[in-house]
Amino acid sequence: MSGQEIPLHEVVICGSGPAGLTAALYASRANLRPLLYEGLEPGGQLTTTTDVENFPGFPDGVMGPDLMEKMKAQVQRFGTTLELDEIDRVDLSTWPYRYWTGMGTEGLAKTLIVATGASARYLGLKNELRLRGYGVSACATCDGFFFRDQVVAVVGGGDSAAEEATFLTRFASEVHLLVRRDEMRASKIMQKRVFDNAKITIHWHTEMTDVLGEKEVEGIATLQNQTNEASTLTVTGVFLAIGHTPNSKPFVDWLDHDDQGYLLTAADATRTNVAGVFAAGDVQDRVYRQAVTAAGSGCMAALEAERWLEDQEAGT
Ligand code: NAP
Repeated sequence: MSGQEIPLHEVVICGSGPAGLTAALYASRANLRPLLYEGLEPGGQLTTTTDVENFPGFPDGVMGPDLMEKMKAQVQRFGTTLELDEIDRVDLSTWPYRYWTGMGTEGLAKTLIVATGASARYLGLKNELRLRGYGVSACATCDGFFFRDQVVAVVGGGDSAAEEATFLTRFASEVHLLVRRDEMRASKIMQKRVFDNAKITIHWHTEMTDVLGEKEVEGIATLQNQTNEASTLTVTGVFLAIGHTPNSKPFVDWLDHDDQGYLLTAADATRTNVAGVFAAGDVQDRVYRQAVTAAGSGCMAALEAERWLEDQEAGT
């Protein structure tokens, strides 16, 4: 940006899931006129779910996308500016902090709240990525409905895999669960649901090595990793449930993070190792990962940002 003054904002929020929007709600009601970058998946992971039954205040449940629309309308009412853009680079070496967006905007932020969430992981197989949306999915709650009376596979052995496999039996005639070890990581109660479900067949020590099909999924190639026996399964859908990756890439050169990229915050707080920079929601939470916990940490981040700004003005 040559010759033009770079705009300076009190609070810049990255991410528009429950964490980012709750941070925006508190910051806008504190008159801090936050600027919020919605990111590549506006509304976050809840926009890829259907019924949300565990967000307080909705006795009959609420559809994930509707909940996010409501949160968005609420922050707009109090003056949050929303931008359909994402921050892809920051310079936190000097304050106010500088950032650049995917669409080429440059800005300065006195405080930064990182609420960029996490994204479902894929194995990275060529055909798996090519057939994403054509039978390959990472969200059974979004896409399970399309597999009525069909045979599908789920890859993974954690709570997500157990939950997705069980959920899919509502629609599918048969569910193959591929677990790469001889035991599941999922909690005992979730495992029991899987073991007790006659529609689920577990393939222990089994990995998916390819997704078969020209235009849509027609099967998967598997490998029994103890015997090295290669095989195929005829399925029309395959669901990846192998965990999530935090969307922290633009920040990891500056902010402390763990070996998986989750941003590290102070105990019982959202502040990071850089003063005035806070992290909220799934990008810093490898334990709970719930909409309501994300919202709670978004609230904490806004309150901490507000107090930090007050301290700067007071010179303390
Ligand atoms: P997770 O607990 O990290 O489990 C990931 C699973 O995927 C593990 O079984 C892992 O196998 C497997 N995996 C990872 N990479 C793989 C690969 N390349 N090939 C094959 N398998 C692979 O992730 P999650 O299940 O998404 O759960 C995340 C968190 O959310 C957990 O804390 C979980 O308790 C929570 N959660 C809770 C609920 C619930 O309570 N209703 C539902 C969903 C999630 P290994 O075990 O061999 O590493």
